[in-house]
Amino acid sequence: MNQAKKLYLETFGCQMNVSDSEKIVTLMKGMGYQQTQDPVDADLVLLNTCSIRATAEQRVYGHLGKFKSIKKTKPGLIIGVGGCVAQQEGEKLLKKAPFVNLVFGTHNLHLLQGMVAAAEEGKRSSQTDFLDDEKRFDLFPHSEAEGGGTRFVTVMQGCDNFCAYCIVPHVRGREISRSAAKVVEEVRALADSGVTEVTLLGQNVNSYCSKQPGEPDFPDLLRLVAQVDGIERIRFTTSHPKDMSPRLIECFADLSKLAPHIHLPAQSGSDRVLQKMNRGYTAQQYLAKVAALKEACPGIQFTGDMIVGFPGEDEAAFQDTMALMEQVQYADLFSFIYSARPGTKAAEYADDATRAEKQGRLERLQAAQKQTTLARNRSLEGTVQKVLVEGLSSTGDSLFGRTGGNRGTVMAGDPSLAGRVLDVRIVEGLQTLLKGEIVHD
Ligand code: SF4
Repeated sequence: MNQAKKLYLETFGCQMNVSDSEKIVTLMKGMGYQQTQDPVDADLVLLNTCSIRATAEQRVYGHLGKFKSIKKTKPGLIIGVGGCVAQQEGEKLLKKAPFVNLVFGTHNLHLLQGMVAAAEEGKRSSQTDFLDDEKRFDLFPHSEAEGGGTRFVTVMQGCDNFCAYCIVPHVRGREISRSAAKVVEEVRALADSGVTEVTLLGQNVNSYCSKQPGEPDFPDLLRLVAQVDGIERIRFTTSHPKDMSPRLIECFADLSKLAPHIHLPAQSGSDRVLQKMNRGYTAQQYLAKVAALKEACPGIQFTGDMIVGFPGEDEAAFQDTMALMEQVQYADLFSFIYSARPGTKAAEYADDATRAEKQGRLERLQAAQKQTTLARNRSLEGTVQKVLVEGLSSTGDSLFGRTGGNRGTVMAGDPSLAGRVLDVRIVEGLQTLLKGEIVHD
């Protein structure tokens, strides 16, 4: 009997890459590849890469070194690189890393099976052409990832905003939205297969269909998805604060299926820095939207992204960021030291703060956020939360799920509860998760 071929897949970066990786698994399954967690066991290694920060990009090259060593003892091993680094580097990557067999860009998943088949015959290839057409959403299958009751559904891709620090418009292309009918069709199919929660995904979901006047906009799309029977909870990411319209805020008041959580990246609390970043809002405008969301949906949890040490950020600007954080009270925050990405506007800006100053600011910001996160988690003690059980926890001895506010929660229970939305009483709020107990009728 033929042994199944093995795929080792590593994913870096954002949820769009996580979603693309689910599609990659489905595509490779169609070619007879089963996933393995051990690269030594693999016949095919694929890296789905991220280039949002220099460190993320360097990690890819570091990882490639590891697979090069494995290939020395297993010359038939096929190595492929996809995602944003692949999009940026293209053919150059094949030259820099002669042991790599294939390079596929962010719009080229539909070509992956052909490229892997060619690599099996010893041919190397690179495909990084952009497909600026809605058809590209139909060129590859939806994910078939198993378990957990929750799935990503891509509603748009690309971005037209050109924030000064961001590589995304360069590696993901211009904004394209998928038709509402296709999105609803996919959500309905997922609901029919037992999925209870969907996350509508895009680089900037709030501007969904902004280039297609007359089509449903994002609030309309949310209302259409909310009508799908079987779907109990809807999330979406990522949102741009400037496109957070009153109609979208109203959805949080009107749609009971919309999870009380929003990832709303501010990036800075300083108007001067926000302007240099080309973000299109002031700190006051951002805070006004936060206040409106809190009013529409009491108890809503905010998460966000913050960049520390952007060129021109001085101590006063940093203090503006700390003040904004204090007002929002984020449940969690992803914070990073700015790193210049070649080809972006900000890469041309003079940068006078030292690395040590930036590191010091990041440490202060993260220490403050740690306290807020713990306080917010503790404030949930004694409350009953709707938790979607995703499966077993990482330790395997309890269940893991997420509250509507997107807080990770562990609780005792039977693994057969995976996929169900249950009432869970929070008994303890810890730094990184909540502990709860299922409320039985
Ligand atoms: S909105 Fe700005 S930060 Fe977000 S993907 Fe577009 S350019 Fe990048």
